[in-house]
Amino acid sequence: RQAAFRTNLSVLLDQVGSGKESLSFMKRRIRRLAQQWATAANRLDAKLEQRWRDQKKILVHVGFLTEESGDVFSPKVLKGGPLGEMVQWADILTALHVLGHNLKISMSVKELQGFLGVPPGRGSCPLTGPLPFDLIYTDYHGLQQMKQHMGLSLKKHKCHIRVIDTFGTEPAYNHEEYATLHGYRTNWGYWNLNARQYMTMFPHTPDNSFMGFVSEELNGTEKRSIRQSKVSNMAVVYGKEASMWKGKEGFLQILHRYMEVHGTVYYETQRPPEVPAFVKNHGLLPQHELQQLLRKAKLFIGFGFPYEGPAPLEAIANGCIFLQPRFRPPHSSLNHEFFRGKPTSREVSSQHPYAEQHIGRPHVMTVDYNNSVEFEAAIRDIMSTQVEPFLPYEYTCEGMLERVHAYIQHQDFCSPEPPFMPANVSRQGLLGGGFTGPLFVARPNSTALGWASNATAPPAWPPLASLRLLVSQDGQSCVEACQAAALVCEPAHFRFINNKEALRGLKVQCEVIDSEVNHILPAFSVVRRECGLQREPLLFSCAGHSPKYRRLCPCRDFQRGQVALCRDCL
Ligand code: UDP
Repeated sequence: RQAAFRTNLSVLLDQVGSGKESLSFMKRRIRRLAQQWATAANRLDAKLEQRWRDQKKILVHVGFLTEESGDVFSPKVLKGGPLGEMVQWADILTALHVLGHNLKISMSVKELQGFLGVPPGRGSCPLTGPLPFDLIYTDYHGLQQMKQHMGLSLKKHKCHIRVIDTFGTEPAYNHEEYATLHGYRTNWGYWNLNARQYMTMFPHTPDNSFMGFVSEELNGTEKRSIRQSKVSNMAVVYGKEASMWKGKEGFLQILHRYMEVHGTVYYETQRPPEVPAFVKNHGLLPQHELQQLLRKAKLFIGFGFPYEGPAPLEAIANGCIFLQPRFRPPHSSLNHEFFRGKPTSREVSSQHPYAEQHIGRPHVMTVDYNNSVEFEAAIRDIMSTQVEPFLPYEYTCEGMLERVHAYIQHQDFCSPEPPFMPANVSRQGLLGGGFTGPLFVARPNSTALGWASNATAPPAWPPLASLRLLVSQDGQSCVEACQAAALVCEPAHFRFINNKEALRGLKVQCEVIDSEVNHILPAFSVVRRECGLQREPLLFSCAGHSPKYRRLCPCRDFQRGQVALCRDCL
């Protein structure tokens, strides 16, 4: 069936259910943004020009909100606890509903069993029939619950699963045997999924798919009125829980010399001791009231925690400048408690690397807070800088709908991948850091090995034409190598460049070409004249790097403001 856009959200609101603060929060958000979603749906509908969209049967199982997982989030909704996950789930549900899919929502193991048609309460009872869904969106908690209640059949159906995973999971941590053997085992990884089945909150490593969320958008009138109502000496502190303010008096004192300081810190009866008396604390605000506060404020200031939340994007969208600390050395699972045990080696260079790297000045200032001169200069700078409200397209409702639409229609982890034959690909546009000469990459060959020319093998997505083959520097990852060329690493393209022809085309001097199971491959060592190809497709990794190796990197172009999609990806 063809999916039709929906602009009425009442069915969705009924489906979300009630009885918990987390659900009420999500429903308030869905209602508040309803008009914005409707406008975006109409725009995307026009942009897609009647293109056929399959209507999918989709189950959304929100594992972290189930009683069975302990649901530690719901009781903290009104007490300054994390809200980013609920923001994202509310937006995912809305996007799937608006795109017109056939949606079921489960927030308990019982509902999950009901929807999957497995008998309740009997431990690991395999699902015997076919999976009644095309896609299942869940999280790590939900995945665990499905394992317990679907037993062996989970393995059979796992290509249909998408895991909402805030900080991301790199391939080395996802591959059970490899992670166990090489010290990448964590509390979370080791599910042997295709890494693109993990969907993140921000575009972290391109090994995963970027799901995102949305932020409020302003129309022309609102933008004009903001310009008039901005108070140039008003700052709002990022941090709704008192502990986030601990040890920050020094900065707050400096800030207070220049600006009126506001906070939205949760408190029960008395001002928390961490919040100085000169701060005007509003208490935890409902989302729409926070937006109103941000519309007046000039500065939104972070003190290092929480990491990578939605609030800075909301502040920037409401015309604030976001000031945040740079982390030197960067925080990661190796050196910081918060990231310890998370299935990623990503280095977090500031409180909000997306704001730092994808938005930047004048909207975002990232400075060394240990240097009080630099800190103070930044505040003075901000007071005299005029900025317009700004929201990257990928965080608008239309941007999110477009991206989720593309994933649903094009990402396919169930069909077998067609075999490939080496082929000469046009040299134009193919770069080889320091290497020149004809380049060869493997091209799908639909007639080899019994594939009929009109066989069911899905066309490559992103399309092969978007591929740009690059060689990294020694020790550099493909994430960095592609970025340095204003491109993005595309893990789906690894299979085209993991071959001798690509090495030969790049004129790499190989004394031996080994095929191994290692997440830095394909790669080569110039000094040792050793070349290695990847034997385990699950370990194709943009993030992987190793000091003495240069990597073969499959990069692609991307749309401005929509890094998840290449130019011809829609
Ligand atoms: N928020 C809110 N009231 C407040 C402060 C924040 O509703 O007083 C919301 C804010 O709009 C944002 C969400 O909390 O969408 C999550 O914000 P944050 O960046 O703090 O991330 P978290 O750590 O909660 O995931």
